[in-house]
Amino acid sequence: LTFLGIESSCDDSAAAVLREGPAGARVLSSVVRSQGLLHAAFGGVVPEIAARAHAEVLDHCVEAALAEAGIGLPEIDGIAVTAGPGLIGGVLAGVMLAKGLAAATGRPLWAVNHLAGHALTPRLTDDLAFPYLLLLVSGGHCQFLIVEGPDRFRRLGGTIDDAPGEAFDKVAKLLGLPQPGGPSIEREAAKGESRRISLPRPLLDRDGCAMSFSGLKTAALRARDTLMAEAGGLREADRRDLCAAFQLAVADILVEKTRRALGLYRDVGPRVPAMAVAGGVAANTAIRSRLLALCEGMDVHFVAPPLPLCTDNAAMIAWAGIERARAGIDPDSAIMARPRWPLDASAAPLIGAGR
Ligand code: ATP
Ligand code: FE
Repeated sequence: LTFLGIESSCDDSAAAVLREGPAGARVLSSVVRSQGLLHAAFGGVVPEIAARAHAEVLDHCVEAALAEAGIGLPEIDGIAVTAGPGLIGGVLAGVMLAKGLAAATGRPLWAVNHLAGHALTPRLTDDLAFPYLLLLVSGGHCQFLIVEGPDRFRRLGGTIDDAPGEAFDKVAKLLGLPQPGGPSIEREAAKGESRRISLPRPLLDRDGCAMSFSGLKTAALRARDTLMAEAGGLREADRRDLCAAFQLAVADILVEKTRRALGLYRDVGPRVPAMAVAGGVAANTAIRSRLLALCEGMDVHFVAPPLPLCTDNAAMIAWAGIERARAGIDPDSAIMARPRWPLDASAAPLIGAGR
């Protein structure tokens, strides 16, 4: 099977070609055009600008992905497109392009939930069977899910306020670091001293796997102001130490809550549990290695996708399409672009709440 994937739900325009054979799936091409620079002056993603930029470049992304894969449109067996959740203008641009390509080629089209794309990615490069426990940790989401199939997700719990990616971005902004904030903070943190500035770990002493990151962000702001008042400006060393302290606090929260989630999962999951992490924040090397160490200590098989497959890309969308096709899920003849689309809409939450 050869699938074309299209992604345009936020500020990355992306297209990818995936081929699935007896030896597994191969990413033949994965083109990502970031709009970062377009939004830089505004301090955040501007929906109208994002939508226009997707409409302008998405077809070129598809062309580039096909060229890089060395195949023509007729060789595509199926198309998968992100149909939500996300900024509606961008999602619409992707859906309309995909519908056009499907009509022109006569190939089937699958609507993919962006979060399902993230959630299924660990299976693209690793031999990971259903079910597995997933920590989905991205720019807009933070939740523990039991992934039971390409279309079956059960939520164990998640953040009650911000997502960690959002917190990384906001803290980077208040420290004058470039967006996206995650990579900027990770780079600074590597040079900093993480124990000098103490930041809170909200909800850490609370049972269950609910998380909170907005208080941490506020605490980082206060710490910055204190340091600036002392030094009459933000010193390089203070900035690095604050980045290190912030990253450590996020890692501590994610690791402790993963320990709890694994405890809960042990009671309902398979005898030999597996755990995966996905989403943009899963690209953080410090966080990945802490999660790996936790899982090794608990005899749990741990999977983290390659870094470029953690942040937004279209290979994960093509893969989710292949997963749907293989599971016998019918292609979608009518596709709605959905700004909101919770993953576990069809499954009752097992425990607790949170996004
Ligand atoms: P969602 O998937 O929830 O709809 P999104 O698609 O905007 O949101 P992703 O592309 O999945 O988010 O992830 C982007 C987020 O990941 C950003 O907030 C970014 O700062 C964060 N991120 C990327 N790389 C790293 C890193 N190395 N360390 C920490 N955070 C990172
Ligand atoms: Fe994403």
